[in-house]
Amino acid sequence: MNRRQFAKALGVGTVALGINETVLPFADEAPQVSITIDDFNLFGAARSVAEQRNRALLETLRARFNLKAAAFICGRNIDSKLGLDIVRHWGEAGHMIANHTYSHWFYPNHSFEEFAQDVLRVEALIKDLPGFKKRFRFPALKEGDTIYRRDKMRGFLRDHGYSMGYVTVDASDWYIDQRLRARLAQNPGADLSGYKEYYLNHLWDRARFYDGLSRKGLGRSVKHTLLIHHNVLNELFLGDVLLMFKSKGWRLIDAVDAFTDPVFSAAPNILPAGESIVWALAKETGRFNDILRYPGEDEVYEKPKMDELGL
Ligand SMILES: [Zn+2]
Repeated sequence: MNRRQFAKALGVGTVALGINETVLPFADEAPQVSITIDDFNLFGAARSVAEQRNRALLETLRARFNLKAAAFICGRNIDSKLGLDIVRHWGEAGHMIANHTYSHWFYPNHSFEEFAQDVLRVEALIKDLPGFKKRFRFPALKEGDTIYRRDKMRGFLRDHGYSMGYVTVDASDWYIDQRLRARLAQNPGADLSGYKEYYLNHLWDRARFYDGLSRKGLGRSVKHTLLIHHNVLNELFLGDVLLMFKSKGWRLIDAVDAFTDPVFSAAPNILPAGESIVWALAKETGRFNDILRYPGEDEVYEKPKMDELGL
């Protein structure tokens, strides 16, 4: 008997018990998804514009969905009074603050020693903010192209008390955002409905792909961490994204809950290392090479489709 059945047997629902339904381990098969937001790139926006975007993201999560995300911070983007204020607001609102390096380097282009120092550089900046957790995500999900570099970083992170902040559902929201901002620069009054539709379809397509891969490769649906970014696209459409997942029967969960899934302790033996953790574990089996493209996600897959649609 699980806790829901137990509550039913008592003739009361979870609400009457005062238990937050999202933390109960129901035995249903509905996929669960959390929101993880990377980079916090303010794109040089004026304080008022940056703060408005930040408020919109926080309000969507809090007021409309009561959802706690994880924020993976790139230090160089927030190394200012404004930037640190913005990150602090996330911590104060109960979201997880985590490490995404200072310089957002592509690890294969840098030495282990240089890259490890860059991890510590952002830690020094954010470690005293509320909500900080030692969880780490590689820029562009690139974890090393040799066994030496991959395993040196894994050892370094472990020795410094870090857990991995893997993505399970990877996507290219950053590229759709880039094109949307280019359109707005041309015409501030442009109709953006096509971008919204493209974005929702893209995320749903990627979510189904990675959840399917999880079921095929691991025999179960993991607690998902969807990768999106702190950008204009999500200022406008994050609420629509969350409503879409709900309408498709997916359960929205807090990021700290998602990271309790054992999949986030995996260390797949592949090279180059990285991509979505579900992708990497499927790659490791050697059974899915026909459906695993490399990289998992990139603008090259989206550009022709967006060109075709005139977006
Ligand atoms: Zn990033």
